[in-house]
Amino acid sequence: MSQVRVRFAPSPTGSTHIGTARTALFNWLYARKTGGKLVLRIEDTDKERNTDAALEELLNGLKWLGINWDEGPEVGGESGPYFQSQRGDLYKEYLQKLLDADRAYEKDGAIFFKLEGERYTEYDDYHKAEVEKVRTEPVVIEDVIRGNVTRREERDFVIVRSNGDPSFHFVNVVDDIAMGITHVLRGEDHLPNTSKHVELFKAFGVKPPVYAHMPMILKDPAQGKGKMSKRDRGALIEEYQQRDFLPEAVVNFIALLGWSPKDDQEVLSIDELIERFDIKDLQKAGARFDEKKMSHINFEHMKRLPIDRYLPPAVSALGKAGLVDADTDADYLKSVLQLCQQKINSFEDLPSFAAYFFTDDYTVDPKTEKKLLKKADAAERIQEVIPVLEGLDSFDAITLERGIQALADEKELKIFAYFPLLRFAVSGVGGGPDLLPMLETLGREKVVARLKKLSANL
Ligand code: GLU
Repeated sequence: MSQVRVRFAPSPTGSTHIGTARTALFNWLYARKTGGKLVLRIEDTDKERNTDAALEELLNGLKWLGINWDEGPEVGGESGPYFQSQRGDLYKEYLQKLLDADRAYEKDGAIFFKLEGERYTEYDDYHKAEVEKVRTEPVVIEDVIRGNVTRREERDFVIVRSNGDPSFHFVNVVDDIAMGITHVLRGEDHLPNTSKHVELFKAFGVKPPVYAHMPMILKDPAQGKGKMSKRDRGALIEEYQQRDFLPEAVVNFIALLGWSPKDDQEVLSIDELIERFDIKDLQKAGARFDEKKMSHINFEHMKRLPIDRYLPPAVSALGKAGLVDADTDADYLKSVLQLCQQKINSFEDLPSFAAYFFTDDYTVDPKTEKKLLKKADAAERIQEVIPVLEGLDSFDAITLERGIQALADEKELKIFAYFPLLRFAVSGVGGGPDLLPMLETLGREKVVARLKKLSANL
């Protein structure tokens, strides 16, 4: 089989939607999987709606996700230019071919594509007028997701508007031909256009590409019903960038919107995705966005990160919250983050989770406070543990455990008579990293000072 050539053909008119990123990703995965080429083609013929800012955001988002392209803006290639706004001459050439073959004609300033077949007129409810129709042969759209879809165009359609701009259908097909595209993976919303496209391919005497029309992305049930919109939480790639999600987690999650590996494994590295992805396994039914799943997948990727990759986004999140700065001790920061890494789902949760490591001014959870301090012996337990901690030879987790255990034995109590109180005294909450390493990291000074403060307040 000849080399696979796929393309991602966005029209950058606004923020990059997760569905757009998915189209890019599936094309990229397919190209990488098959050793083919991914072409990035910018469909910017709508001068009013396409903006430089949107293009920049799009390219930036693709790079952040790790989706690179073999031909296109910034990298060039043999079938450039890669902006449709710069391909006018080619469109003229292809238009001429249709005119020469009597497959196009001018009417009211626009140029129409001429379908083949017997012509007749019929009253059309939609246009409320007699319109000319054509008895064409149905076209068969070869779609790997939907099987063969048979459709029939019955009216000539515009390929060059009266203002001289070529139409989307026309340039889309001309470019797929000129760029030698073998597979078209795009959103299901384009399926109704595809019979027009196949008619154009036929008119140019070129075999149409293999199509894969991907299912719509549906709203998270918590946000309502129907198609996900740009306003829904989690819909924009920029949001994931701003919220410090891991790009490989976002890629993993997006890949599962309409595709899944045969064994339903959910957490996959980029290499695993490339290895296991196949357009044959794309699903037909709408793909439901699931914010909880996104968060879980992000957590799984965060847990697996080597600490040197975990640090920069973590430090950035803590920095944004004003908890750390250039003066923060690097070793201290590292041990705090090693404790947090196994516990939190996203970098945006880090500041509230870890604030007490960096400031004495952290939030106290009133429920935990009430539950722990209402016990009659709370004050006593805190008072007796303070001198023990002050007197330990060293403040590492093992020594801490031995010291507190000895105290508990002496009082004929379980060690857990102290643990929740200790945790609350130093962090203000009932949960968090493993207690003993956390105390070790905080250090004797902070731990004892916080215990004394709590004791004084009781
Ligand atoms: N510019 C079109 C879009 O963004 C491309 C459609 C296609 O992939 O053929 O929807």
